[in-house]
Amino acid sequence: MAHANWIGGEFVASSSEETIAVVNPYTEEVIGHVASSSPADVDRAVEAALRAFSEWRWVPAVERGDYLHEVARKLREAEDALARQLTLEGGKPLVENSDEVGWTAASFDYYAEIGRHSRGRVIPSIESSQLSLVLKEPYGVVGCIVPWNYPLLLMAWKVAPALAAGNTVVLKPASVTPLSALMLARVFDHLPPGTVNILTGSGEMVGNALVTHPQVPVIAFTGSTGVGQQIAGLAAPHMKKLHLELGGKDAFIIAEDADPDVAVPGVAWAALLNNGQVCTSTERIYVHESLYTEFTALITEYVQGLVLGDPLDRATDLGPMARANYRAKVERQVADAVERGARVLTGGRRPPDQPTGYFYEPTVLVEVNRDMEIMCQETFGPVLPIARFVDFEEAIALANDSPYGLGANLYTHNASYVKRFYEEVRAGTLWINDPLTDNDAGPFGGFGMSGLGRELGEEGLDEFRETKHVHWDFAMEPKEWWYPYEEYNRLR
Ligand code: NAD
Repeated sequence: MAHANWIGGEFVASSSEETIAVVNPYTEEVIGHVASSSPADVDRAVEAALRAFSEWRWVPAVERGDYLHEVARKLREAEDALARQLTLEGGKPLVENSDEVGWTAASFDYYAEIGRHSRGRVIPSIESSQLSLVLKEPYGVVGCIVPWNYPLLLMAWKVAPALAAGNTVVLKPASVTPLSALMLARVFDHLPPGTVNILTGSGEMVGNALVTHPQVPVIAFTGSTGVGQQIAGLAAPHMKKLHLELGGKDAFIIAEDADPDVAVPGVAWAALLNNGQVCTSTERIYVHESLYTEFTALITEYVQGLVLGDPLDRATDLGPMARANYRAKVERQVADAVERGARVLTGGRRPPDQPTGYFYEPTVLVEVNRDMEIMCQETFGPVLPIARFVDFEEAIALANDSPYGLGANLYTHNASYVKRFYEEVRAGTLWINDPLTDNDAGPFGGFGMSGLGRELGEEGLDEFRETKHVHWDFAMEPKEWWYPYEEYNRLR
């Protein structure tokens, strides 16, 4: 039997008979079914969220903060069960999923606090008898659509600020990881019923119904650029507020002064965390020519030492990829690169010793060029394509050689390189000497094809607040610029 949706504070069976099978990417076995919900289910969830909004918006911000801290506490309490479920559905190693639950809780704690303190403002008025206010208000029902690679964390980056700002939420998880999302019902069940609703189903059915729903004024989406473009098209006639966190093709520059003992494991981590299925995965590596031979040899050896295996085993470095079709895309891109002259230093195949699971060996590729798919399209897999550069001017040009602009990394102690890097590279997050570290207070998002808007930080709260300017004149006097001027003079 399929798991029910969580609507209005209770589990409600879908009106649709259709179901979606959830697969364990390590065993390739079906581990459960969820509802493939219908537009009627979306209507029901939006109605519940609208009813809840009429009260939640007036709950004092301090009290909303208490509710969010309690969400964080319950997440930490459920860490083991949630991490295990995430691993069973998505194949990410248990250790990394435990981290994800902790980061998710921290994001709720962060927005519990800044939601309490962040306010509108009083601005200078035109005349002394006036007061001008800038108010920040919730929009209403926010549709949150999230991917499978960090299903809880990316939920938190939307749901926590949306709730802190006084909105209510309809959450649609990815069909790869719906069971862990439904477990969140227990994490949210102290909130007034309908404040958060969780609906499983396909992007085409549930996602589209949310995106076009007239009573959902905001869509907060994380996923691929292609789906983000579709959402933008569908939402345009409704003039919805869109928040889009999309794909990336992040570059990593290793300058000539970088220490290979740090750069090798650092770059490998940035490229291979969660099998490279991270939006900010390093997908293009540019090494100064003086370090190139040493770096490629060392990183090949390092990558060969990583342990592939059961993601529930705490000794595993890399589990399976999340689905067979994601691996097939990586295989296609590597084959294309090899056909055009790239050379595989290690990997480039499924590991022969794993009988089941969507595994792909971490792969180091050299002699790559900008025209290969592996250097210009998102890969989302465990591949490290490495090219060389001659001077920093060229390194910056290479980093910017992409329509995406999510993040970029640099290893150097050279301050003039650092300055040029952060001034000239077009990306939302720039990491210098510490790849991929997120900070709840640091805004996160993309330039260009990597999206619109920012998550995290105060910017992340503002995405869920409508701005209203109030101009209040206490005097109620006639104005000299009114017409007819005779009337003004008569009133005076
Ligand atoms: P996806 O775009 O296939 O799906 C994301 C979500 O959108 C899922 O819940 C899916 O069901 C839903 N969806 C699919 N079609 C839809 C439609 N037509 N209308 C509405 N919703 C629809 O992405 P994915 O495979 O789940 O995740 C991987 C992608 O996400 C990668 O491209 C990655 O770079 C990106 N990503 C970006 C960030 C970021 O912060 N920028 C973070 C993580 C992942």
